[in-house]
Amino acid sequence: MPIDPTLPYDDDNIFARILRGEIPSKRVYEDEYALAFHDIAPQAPQHILVIPKGRYVSWDDFTARAGDVEIAGFVRAVGRVAREAGMVTPGYRLLSNVGADGGQEVPHLHVHIFAGKPLGRMIA
Ligand code: 5GP
Repeated sequence: MPIDPTLPYDDDNIFARILRGEIPSKRVYEDEYALAFHDIAPQAPQHILVIPKGRYVSWDDFTARAGDVEIAGFVRAVGRVAREAGMVTPGYRLLSNVGADGGQEVPHLHVHIFAGKPLGRMIA
């Protein structure tokens, strides 16, 4: 069910529960600003989700309320996860779904990292 990113943050969303350790996940990276774990339903040979630790629904929410250090920490984590997963060569794709038309299902900001095969030129 697509979500409305303008609604208040839902502390019971799946990724909030993964952050609190209430739902298991295959974690690949964690620091002060971000957590990365394998998607439960991978859409590519490698499919990792990276989420900020703060309570943000969307990019506009994140960039309006988070501090620069927090934003930089999250973006840096995305790059680091891709690098440490060996994706830099031959390459990978980032995707972030926001809101109903964006197809966002989990109302906690997240970036998908896809890799492991030629991903083609798909944009939507
Ligand atoms: P969205 O459509 O919101 O961009 O993507 C949500 C992603 O979260 C989907 O790719 C879905 O497979 C993944 N997902 C949903 N529930 C869980 C879960 O409990 N654990 C993990 N690891 N991934 C999940």
